[in-house]
Amino acid sequence: MDVFNSISEIRQSRWADPTLSWGLVPTMGYLHQGHLSLVQKARTENDRVMATIFVNPTQFAEGEDLSSYPRSLKRDLDLLKEAGCDVVFVPQDSEIYPDGFQTAVSVNVITKQLEGASRPTHFGGVATVVTKLFNIAQPTNAYFGQKDAQQTIVLKQLVEDLNFNLNLVICPTVREADGLAMSSRNAYLSKDERNQAHVLFQALTEGKNLILKGEKNAAEVRHLMKKLIEQQPLAKIDYVSVANGRSLEELETIEDGEVLLSTAVYFGNTRLIDNIPLSL
Ligand code: AMP
Repeated sequence: MDVFNSISEIRQSRWADPTLSWGLVPTMGYLHQGHLSLVQKARTENDRVMATIFVNPTQFAEGEDLSSYPRSLKRDLDLLKEAGCDVVFVPQDSEIYPDGFQTAVSVNVITKQLEGASRPTHFGGVATVVTKLFNIAQPTNAYFGQKDAQQTIVLKQLVEDLNFNLNLVICPTVREADGLAMSSRNAYLSKDERNQAHVLFQALTEGKNLILKGEKNAAEVRHLMKKLIEQQPLAKIDYVSVANGRSLEELETIEDGEVLLSTAVYFGNTRLIDNIPLSL
């Protein structure tokens, strides 16, 4: 497995044989089985697999956890090698954002709700760095997790609007035994917080079950999910959403089509997100 820090090395490796297909797996490192599931999927669908490890400063706002974001490069590289990755791109900030950098990519409508409402600068940073990674790696296929549901919708819009010549592949959320979605940020949780954090998936699952039983009133579903989350003393709700799965507009009435149940919950300073997509 090759580990490169520079864009020029990545380009050289990518184009050494132009007939090969490449799968790209962008990450911020501190890898877990969720990330590795993307690498494993990419491994089955491409001649070569490239992962990136880059904690992208432009997607963090002032006061968020950029400086404390967990890092473990040596372990990450071992895991990527074991998962069958061919190339890892580990750039310094200055390789991605050199002095004088002044361009930003913004996706405008679908970024205003949910995560975008709580983190107004987040998706601009994501769209900019992913655009750069797509241009640097020029993958055949790019792999992202359903865990970040709104991100997948933003990136679909980006790929369509900017005519990127690649396929986006969205992979299912990988969970711990109690249902908690795997996340690098789970490492921040105290023992008590960790024990209560399964409530996100529990609430989403109960919300899903209520809808599958025939509930059409979205407010009832949101109410049930909120009630369950509030039963955990350390949980502080940011949002609980029952939205149209394409536009992300909050629903009043649940109708057939794509529905996204999602939530963001604080445990202390740690902000966890999770979602369940439904096709009705
Ligand atoms: P991150 O390192 O948090 O930026 O995540 C990198 C990629 O891994 C993103 O596409 C995430 O959606 C995906 N990912 C993170 N956690 C999970 C998970 N539990 N299951 C599946 N994919 C995940």
